[in-house]
This record gives sequence, C-alpha cells and structure tokens, in this order.
Amino acid sequence: LLSDRLKSVASFLPEGAVFADIGSDHAYLPVYVCRQDQQALAIAGELNEGPFQSAKRNVEEQGLSARIAVRKGNGLSILKANEVEQVVIAGMGGSLITDILENGKNKLSTVGRIITQPNLEARSIRVWLQENGYKLIGEDIIEEAGHIYEVLAADKSEVKAAMNEVELLCGPFLLKEKSMAFINKWESEIKKRENVVYQMRHASSPDKAKIDQFKEEIEIIK
Ligand code: SAM
Repeated sequence: LLSDRLKSVASFLPEGAVFADIGSDHAYLPVYVCRQDQQALAIAGELNEGPFQSAKRNVEEQGLSARIAVRKGNGLSILKANEVEQVVIAGMGGSLITDILENGKNKLSTVGRIITQPNLEARSIRVWLQENGYKLIGEDIIEEAGHIYEVLAADKSEVKAAMNEVELLCGPFLLKEKSMAFINKWESEIKKRENVVYQMRHASSPDKAKIDQFKEEIEIIK
C-alpha cells in the first residue's frame, strides 16, 4: 500500500503521464501510477546501487519493465532531451531538490509540470520555481507517522510569479487552506525558534544578530 504522502504526489500527475521519478528508491511511486493508469509511462532514476537494484527488482516483479525504465545516475542526468513531460522529486530536503533541478535545467525543455515533496526547506524550491518560469498550481500538506510533509506542484508558465516572503516560506495554497497539519507545523516551527532564542540569550556570549534573525522569522510565521 502506498503512503498518503506518495499518494498525494501521484494525485498531481495528469492521466497518461510521461514522467521521471528522480530518487525513486523502490520505485513505489511509478509502480503505483502505472498500475492505476494504463497509459502512464515512467523513468525511475536512482543515484545509489542499493535503491537502484530494489527499484529494478520491484518493476520486474510487477511486470512493468516495458513501461517503467529504471536508470542509475545523478539527478536529471539520466534523462535524454525531450524524454518526459513531468518530473517528480520526493522525499529529500528542499536544497537537494533545488540542486537537482538547477543542475538538470537543460533537461527541462519539455517538462510542463514539476512535482516536489521536500521533507524540509520548501522555501528554496518555491524560490527556484519562481525564478525559473514555473508557477505553483497546487500544494498539499500531510501529517503521517509523526512527520509533516509538503507537496508542491508547478507548471511551466509565461506569467512570472511573484510570491511575497510569507508565501515563499509557507506556501500560497497552504496559507489559504490553513489545514490542521499546516497549523501544527508552524506552531512547532515557532516553538523551535523560541527555544533557540532562549538558549542563545543564556549563552556566555550571545550572538545578537542571530537572535534578531530568529525573532524576525518568528514574527513572519506568526
Ligand atoms: N522518492 C522516494 C520517496 O519519496 O519515498 C524515495 C525517497 S528516499 C528518502 C531518497 C532517495 O533519493 C534515495 O533512494 C537516494 O538514493 C536518492 N537520491 C539522493 N540523491 C540523489 C540524486 N542526486 N539523484 C538521484 N537519486 C538520488
């Protein structure tokens, strides 16, 4: 059974998707999507040998080798030009996801939709999307097994998005929706920063600039 987190990621793929799943691990996502949708085609990319082998095994066992190619390599380098229409990068930190997108820009000419699921630092992805001609079309936030995950979907667009600081940090769609998971996340982010400020104030030589920076972040979040 697929996790709610990956089901949410899958929900942003169109029918008949032709997509790459970068950092696919067991290839659970492409297997799920291709079983649900007979028209879907996928490429699963993996950097590391262990996950690459489990992806290959899983795809073969499911009899999906004709529709899911499993390739070993770094980020988007496993793709040829014009091979896919959507890219998924899930289950990593936001800055790693941003690096993969930035280093693979030359593979994105036919990619109309990018779906990411950062475990943290979603802000860096929103900044990258906005600076590289992709406009957010939807977001989701999911609480599962004590963790909170964000999902961001963006389409290539001529219209340049201009999110403000709060939208970049929290997500424009998530801000409007204000779900329980969203409120829980940001309440805990405020607590984390308040703890850091408390500890810094009681340090032998408090770093005033750092303290001010955290206090400013707390105000933005509030
Ligand atoms: N995408 C799956 C998910 O969301 O459940 C797996 C997430 S797993 C935590 C991250 C995977 O990304 C690992 O299997 C790791 O080997 C792979 N990975 C990390 N950096 C990568 C890169 N630069 N290119 C391709 N795969 C990478």
